[in-house]
Amino acid sequence: MIGPDDTVYDETRAIMAGGYDRRPSVIVRPADARDVAHVVRLAAETGTELAVRSGGHSGAGHSTSEGDLVLDLRDMKALDIDVEGRTAWAETGLTAGEYTAAVAAHGLATGFGDTGSVGLGGITLGGGVGYLVRKHGLTIDSLLATELVTADGRILHVDADTHPDLFWAIRGGGGNFGVATRFQFRLHELHSFVGGMLVLPATAETIAGFMAEAAAAPEELSTIANVMPAPPMPVLPEEVHGQLVILGMLAYAGDADAGERAMAPFRALATPLADLVRPMPYAEMFPVDEGGGDYHPTAVARTMFVDTIDRSVAETVVRHLEASDASMRVAQLRMLGGAMARVAHDATAFPHRQSRIMVNVAAFYDGPDDRAGREAWVGDFAAALHQGDDGAYVNFLADEGAARVRAAYPGPTWDRLLDIKRRYDPGNLFRLNQNIASMGA
Ligand SMILES: Cc1cc2nc3c(=O)[nH]c(=O)nc-3n(C[C@H](O)[C@H](O)[C@H](O)COP(=O)(O)OP(=O)(O)OC[C@H]3O[C@@H](n4cnc5c(N)ncnc54)[C@H](O)[C@@H]3O)c2cc1C
Repeated sequence: MIGPDDTVYDETRAIMAGGYDRRPSVIVRPADARDVAHVVRLAAETGTELAVRSGGHSGAGHSTSEGDLVLDLRDMKALDIDVEGRTAWAETGLTAGEYTAAVAAHGLATGFGDTGSVGLGGITLGGGVGYLVRKHGLTIDSLLATELVTADGRILHVDADTHPDLFWAIRGGGGNFGVATRFQFRLHELHSFVGGMLVLPATAETIAGFMAEAAAAPEELSTIANVMPAPPMPVLPEEVHGQLVILGMLAYAGDADAGERAMAPFRALATPLADLVRPMPYAEMFPVDEGGGDYHPTAVARTMFVDTIDRSVAETVVRHLEASDASMRVAQLRMLGGAMARVAHDATAFPHRQSRIMVNVAAFYDGPDDRAGREAWVGDFAAALHQGDDGAYVNFLADEGAARVRAAYPGPTWDRLLDIKRRYDPGNLFRLNQNIASMGA
């Protein structure tokens, strides 16, 4: 237990996103599921607000609290790999990078996102869209079972046969249903991988071309196109810094020769400004020194899905990015499809299986005075890109209000989640999240 008088209080209460300077009255760092159950019961009995934290990457600030209790799961990092059975039990305090590096030692992988410091807890419960999404689906498509502490303090084993309603709900429904203490994942063989960063000049033509190639690529290839002013990276010539580029992340899960062939159309779009794509161990996609620690940017963002990034949409992207002077601004374009799209829309609480492209637009802001303007820019940009898909991916939502949570769970998905929430957490103990019960009841 860590309180305001402890020397590690400030570093422990920090979360990744900037702008959340909250001071919990106590941070509890449990060692195991029994500790967690104890804290959950205590919070329920005393009416204490409970924030649940794994990797601390919530953009909505949900994993910290002002004046109440943070259940900080970061010390729970046990990992039990069954190499022959191709499964692993992983505690929620592991980060995606830690897990990936450990299972890679056996030539195995489970897909998470694009950032190693993200915690298994948050990304898994929301869905998990990353470098293996087209080859192996979302993270939840590789989830076999979960150990879950429910609001009444019970420690449940949850899988397709035991508490199947909960198993459905926690695959996309976030932290609404309990505290997940560990997850059992399917492991996929990944002995050969080609990937890395390809930086191209960003024009309407190269952006549309990149997305057309990403759609046409074999499912082994998942891509993320970050269209943004070039950061001052040493691999880029100085005169390129600040110019609009596609900072493409390419991930081919398969044979090296076929991987190089899949990369060729991207390299042919324009002379690359930097080309770091090569055969490499998959775990190198998650460098250990990225981001963490003292990096707490303040940003506004909007997540959405679109059907196409053709030439005219790409022109809109360029126009908006050029019109802003935010110190960092980006349109992140993720081609979906493949294995993710073959799962039925109602098989899990992530219903956006047929959405084709995920777009995240974001801008940094500098202080409260700067925020409103950046928010307006993000809102205008998202409105200009809207093509009729009103859905949203829950893990990229900020604190945006009830309608946006509903956008993550449209139609019957919402009704089913609400029914399960009422049965397992009628008092809404788990409410510091993209909350299912606080509206529409
Ligand atoms: C830099 C960055 C890159 C990202 N990249 C991707 C990406 O490529 N793909 C993607 O899908 N997402 C991505 N995300 C979004 C990320 O998946 C979510 O922010 C996720 O919630 C973070 O998980 P966490 O455990 O680190 O966060 P935390 O802040 O610790 O948790 C977030 C919320 O999840 C719930 N939660 C966490 N752990 C548990 C648990 N064990 N039991 C119950 N509830 C729990 C709680 O409600 C908590 O408030 C990214 C986020 C950031 C900041």
